[in-house]
Amino acid sequence: MLLTKLSLYSCFDPFSSTVRRNSRAHGKSEEDQFYYLSSSSISSISMILQVAQTIPSEILIEICSYLHPQDLYSLASVCKRYRSLLWSRGSTTTQQIWRTSRMRYVTNLSLAPPLGMSEQQYIWLMVLLKKCMFCDEKDRFELTMHWEFRMYCCNKCLNEKTVSRKTLLNEWNVPETLLVCFPQLQRNKNLQDLPLYLKRNVLKTLNNYNKLKASERVQWIKQQENKILKIQSENEQYNNIHDQTRYDHTERVERLLRKLHGFYDCPRRYNYTLNN
Ligand SMILES: [Zn+2]
Repeated sequence: MLLTKLSLYSCFDPFSSTVRRNSRAHGKSEEDQFYYLSSSSISSISMILQVAQTIPSEILIEICSYLHPQDLYSLASVCKRYRSLLWSRGSTTTQQIWRTSRMRYVTNLSLAPPLGMSEQQYIWLMVLLKKCMFCDEKDRFELTMHWEFRMYCCNKCLNEKTVSRKTLLNEWNVPETLLVCFPQLQRNKNLQDLPLYLKRNVLKTLNNYNKLKASERVQWIKQQENKILKIQSENEQYNNIHDQTRYDHTERVERLLRKLHGFYDCPRRYNYTLNN
C-alpha cells in the first residue's frame, strides 16, 4: 500500500532507461496531479522519503530480499537512490535481489532468464506487465506473449511491428536465402500458418549483412541460421513457462477454447493469413 502510494507518479519500462508518468496521473494538469494526493498524504510521504534516504545500504538490501517483485518495482519508483539500487543491469547485488524475490514469490518462474536479459527485465515481462507493452490494451484475452520477439502485446501491435514472409520477398525484395537469419514467429503451428518476422530484427540483420564482403556472406548466413535454430527450443520453453506463470488452469483452457473458436468461426481470417 505504502509502496503503491509512493510510486503513483512514475513507472519504469525495464527495456528503456526512461521514466514515464504513471497512466493514472498521465493526462492530468500539473494542478490536478498535485491534488491527486491529499495534503496529509503528501506530508507523510515526504517524511517517509526523508527516512528512506538515510537507511544504510546493507539494511536496505536486506529489506529488499524479503519483498515481492511487485513491491521491488514500486520501490524502484520512489527515488533515485532506490532506482539505482534496483534498476542496475550490471550490478550483481541488483540481480541477486530480484533473483531472490523471484525464487521466493514466483515459484513457477524457476528457470533463469536467458543470456543477455536482466532479472528485472525478465520478471517485468513474465509477471509484472499487465497491459500491451506498446499500447494501453489491458484485456488479458487480447494479449499474448511472443517470446520469439520478447514481446507481450495485443494482436494490433503485433501486426504493426511484424512483416509476413510474402511481403519480405515481394515488396522488401529480401533474398530468400536470408530468411533463415531472422527470428520468426509461427502463431498457429498446427494450421500451416506462415511465419511473421519482426521488422526491427529484419532491418538490423540486413544492415549487418550489407556491411559484409561478398566472400564472407555464405559463412555468415550459416552462423546466423545456427544461432536461430539453437534458441528455437528455448523460445518454446519460455512461452510455456510464461503461460503457466501468468494464467491459472481455468484461464489457460479458456484461452485455448477462444483460439479454437476464433479459428472455426472465422475461416476467412484464416485464409487471409495463409495468403499473406
Ligand atoms: Zn497493443
